[in-house]
Amino acid sequence: MRFWRTPLDQKKFTTPHGRIHIIIERCKGCKFCVEYCPREVLRISEQFNKKGYHYPEAVKEDACVDCDLCESICPEFAIYSERIEGAPVESGEGEAAAPAEAESDNEKEARGE
Ligand code: SF4
Ligand code: SF4
Repeated sequence: MRFWRTPLDQKKFTTPHGRIHIIIERCKGCKFCVEYCPREVLRISEQFNKKGYHYPEAVKEDACVDCDLCESICPEFAIYSERIEGAPVESGEGEAAAPAEAESDNEKEARGE
């Protein structure tokens, strides 16, 4: 998320982090968790489970924000995340937008550009 201005109380808040647990033998390799993870934490492993399916593995676990989407979407209840410590809220790419830039964007919009 990109802030126009840095909120004064930003330091009070943290971004949650999750640790992923995969119950490999339950997985049926549908890839829902991989496709829908908003942080691209998962990928399909080249290994097979006992049922003969490729199961997911966490490749960017540090990026997991414990949103529980993978847990909610998995039809086999084969994946879940566990909340661990929070980290400072990310302020997005680059610094907050300078007011002058914002004004010029608004001016362009008003001119229909
Ligand atoms: S909890 Fe959210 S961010 Fe973490 S792996 Fe699952 S879908 Fe991705
Ligand atoms: S959503 Fe569940 S069953 Fe599908 S690949 Fe992920 S862990 Fe396996």
